Amino acid sequence: MKIIHKPNDLRSEIEKLKNTKGLSVGLVPTMGALHDGHLSLIKKCVKENDIAIVSDFVNPTQFGPNEDYAKYPRTLEKDSALCSEAGVDIVFAPAPEDIYDEYYFKHKETTLICPPYDVVNKLCGKSRPGHFDGVCTIVGKLFNITKCNRAYFGKKDAQQLFIIKKMVKDLYFDLEIIGCPIVREEDGLALSSRNTYLTAESRNLALNISQALFKAKELFDKGIKEADTLIDTALSYLEKPGLEAEYVEIVAQENFEKIDTLNKKAVMLIAAKVDSHEAKIRLIDNIEL
Ligand code: AMP
Repeated sequence: MKIIHKPNDLRSEIEKLKNTKGLSVGLVPTMGALHDGHLSLIKKCVKENDIAIVSDFVNPTQFGPNEDYAKYPRTLEKDSALCSEAGVDIVFAPAPEDIYDEYYFKHKETTLICPPYDVVNKLCGKSRPGHFDGVCTIVGKLFNITKCNRAYFGKKDAQQLFIIKKMVKDLYFDLEIIGCPIVREEDGLALSSRNTYLTAESRNLALNISQALFKAKELFDKGIKEADTLIDTALSYLEKPGLEAEYVEIVAQENFEKIDTLNKKAVMLIAAKVDSHEAKIRLIDNIEL
């Protein structure tokens, strides 16, 4: 397995590996701090492609000014060992200066991919303005650098997956987006790199998020189709000291627009902040209904 830092080196390595045989290239974009959730995507990518690439890059343009960009966990050595074990061919680990030019560092502005306002400024985008523009921009760059045939994303970030599929369709990127199931701890907590910020106590509080989703699903399976009833039930799990619901919403899977009655495929999404030490840790999770 190779670890490559420069976009042009990655391009030539892929060209070399692809040779003239038309081998397929799969990409798993990550911000590193890899856990079993990432690894489920990585293993699928290795299985389904001749050349498997994992990008490991904490992307500055998707973080807001008061977010955790600086302290986001960076564990490249450990990540690389996990990737090597999983059969990955290349880990792409650029520095911010390899991906963004001097203009960006001087003016804090760059060429962005900006999906429509109403698509990105709800749910997670409401409290994280500019987040999805940053995500689409880095993902678009990675698609262009790798010319991958398939790219793998987790359903854990359901709105992100929806937006990236739309971007690929709108901009005619020539690749397939593959959505992968959410990987959870045995007790239900969705795996996340941000779980490393949790204390034992705040982890217990965080468990309410998945429990709220499971309860809503249980009621849905029993025949309750009114979104408000399901949302109120979920909210009751989140009304605890030390836990603050940012949103609990139900949207249609086809367009991510709110629905009142669940008469088509839907998804319930939660974002909540958990008090841990002095900080508030923002976690997201969702369940398909
Ligand atoms: P991140 O490093 O957080 O940007 O995540 C990289 C990719 O891994 C994204 O496509 C995420 O949706 C996916 N991912 C993160 N956590 C999980 C999880 N628990 N289950 C499945 N996919 C996940």
